[in-house]
Amino acid sequence: MVVLREWEFLPEVIGWAREELARRQRPAPSAEEYWREFRDEWLRTIGFCYDCWSQTTDESPGNTRTVNLIGTAITGEVDPCGVCRSTVKTKAFWIVFPLIPLGRYRVIRFAGNRYAGRKLKVQ
Ligand SMILES: [Zn+2]
Repeated sequence: MVVLREWEFLPEVIGWAREELARRQRPAPSAEEYWREFRDEWLRTIGFCYDCWSQTTDESPGNTRTVNLIGTAITGEVDPCGVCRSTVKTKAFWIVFPLIPLGRYRVIRFAGNRYAGRKLKVQ
């Protein structure tokens, strides 16, 4: 058992599962061990590869919106990952130009201008 999205479970549920594994003498694998053993399953579930996942937090860039060139947007596209195809983008508050940087995120784009993002731990 490995918990990659702990917010989906109550802490006591995770505790019970870990206690049960320990009772059966089956230690829970680390996230990195799980990635090495079940790479395809990880990518299907998480989207981001282990390296990109571990360099980021669960914090998403949220919705971005500009009206008449005023608002928030994520732009740029640097440091592409060859495994999960995410890139690093910067979220900023815009008035015609990006004025206030609000953080850098690893982002995977989907069809229809949708995306999934995770905030970089090191800005
Ligand atoms: Zn990646």
